[in-house]
Amino acid sequence: MQKHNQKEHLYKLLVIGDLGVGKTSIIKRYVHQNFSPHYRATIGVDFALKVLNWDAETVVRLQLWDIAGQERFGNMTRVYYREAMGAFIVFDVTRPATFEAVTKWKEDLDSKLILPSGKPVPAVLLANKCDQGIDVLMNNGIKMDQFCKENGFVGWFETSAKENININEASRCLVKHIIASE
Ligand code: GDP
Ligand code: MG
Repeated sequence: MQKHNQKEHLYKLLVIGDLGVGKTSIIKRYVHQNFSPHYRATIGVDFALKVLNWDAETVVRLQLWDIAGQERFGNMTRVYYREAMGAFIVFDVTRPATFEAVTKWKEDLDSKLILPSGKPVPAVLLANKCDQGIDVLMNNGIKMDQFCKENGFVGWFETSAKENININEASRCLVKHIIASE
């Protein structure tokens, strides 16, 4: 039941990163609680809505923007980024090139989108497919913490859309930073 003193927030969140890293799978898992191993690169922009009962007074509606097809160019248009409040940048722990692309995605984001406050939008880094047991990085939290600090990520998580690992946690981390920055 909606209480009259309840606050509602609507946040547009971007999910970006190289082709095949699991962006669509993460959104599907988070919003629809399912996973399909079948690869499908649709063309266009897709939206999914997730409603969080954040606390007793606050409802958060997340509008997740998936990209499909355009990520092969390694950047997005300003129109796509417009009015986003936060971003997930995803890479695939089994493919080093997708991690190398992370800084490029972060630069693209920060060059095209600035919050009304003048700050960059909060971004969380997702090391996806952690169920694969092949971590090309180093399985080293300290180095990743340092990478996040140097590159302006508010946090990072090892995730699996397949096994449903850490996706809720990553989202809570991002939303927490968005609420704090408002
Ligand atoms: P996108 O291009 O970034 O949207 O990537 P997709 O979501 O289409 O995923 C690409 C492929 O990786 C698909 O075959 C998925 O089933 C697979 N995939 C996505 N997430 C995971 C994961 O967490 N673990 C494993 N093992 N496979 C995944
Ligand atoms: Mg996709």
